[in-house]
Amino acid sequence: MEEVKFTVLASGSSGNAAYLETPNSRLLIDCGISAKRIREALLNLDRTPERLDGILITHEHSDHVSGLKVLAAKLGIPVYCNRHTAGEIRRIHDTNFDFRLVETGNAFEIGDLNVDTFPIPHDAIDPMGFVLHTPEGRIGFLTDMGHGTRLVADRVRAAEVLLLETNHDVDLLNNDPRRPWSLKQRILSRHGHLSNEGAANLLEQLVHPELQHIYCAHLSRECNTPDLARTEIHAQLSKLGASFVNVEVTSPRQPCQTLGLSGNKVAIKAEKTVATPSIAL
Ligand SMILES: [Zn+2]
Ligand SMILES: [Zn+2]
Repeated sequence: MEEVKFTVLASGSSGNAAYLETPNSRLLIDCGISAKRIREALLNLDRTPERLDGILITHEHSDHVSGLKVLAAKLGIPVYCNRHTAGEIRRIHDTNFDFRLVETGNAFEIGDLNVDTFPIPHDAIDPMGFVLHTPEGRIGFLTDMGHGTRLVADRVRAAEVLLLETNHDVDLLNNDPRRPWSLKQRILSRHGHLSNEGAANLLEQLVHPELQHIYCAHLSRECNTPDLARTEIHAQLSKLGASFVNVEVTSPRQPCQTLGLSGNKVAIKAEKTVATPSIAL
């Protein structure tokens, strides 16, 4: 059985993109770093953007779509998103894309991959979360979300791998002198971003015996640190009796090591390391 490979290419408030490869599909999830950086990251994995079967988009904020024009429009790569998000992307980039419209809440297939979508609370036009059902396991994708909902928890609970937003530390955000009160309120709102604490609380509903790997994602550069995010998630996992789960903090600058899924088991692929990871797994 051929395995599935998942690589977070970048994640943070400044840009997000991940690469998923199954035996017969190659996809990006979000495209919020430059096309040049995506090409370089894929080349490091012996892949090229030309071979992509599609790009899934969570929502239209620039840290999720900024590389789309150069990458998708020029190469004619299909862009999978809902109708409202497509309208915003077309307006932002003033370009036509090969959109494959999906309806939020429905599932669809790309090759051997089944993508389950659901709405998430965030201040975008129609933001979506995903569960990527691969032949070898499930990957939950939860980023840019003001708060956890029962629907989100119900949809994501089965995942072996979970990418979970840990955007900010609430105290660091409240004490940040550079951010105006209105921006802090937006981030902290129920349609803003998930804090370390919010992510930890949501884990109460998401932890299950098959969960093996959590990415702490979309960290704010000014209002969070990898240590704070990791410590909060570790503490909660330990409280929930789930210290068996690996915790990895994503970086906006460097790809994570590739994760291999085989028979619903997760393993870190060490041989194609593109950068020294800043944390121990
Ligand atoms: Zn956003
Ligand atoms: Zn974002």
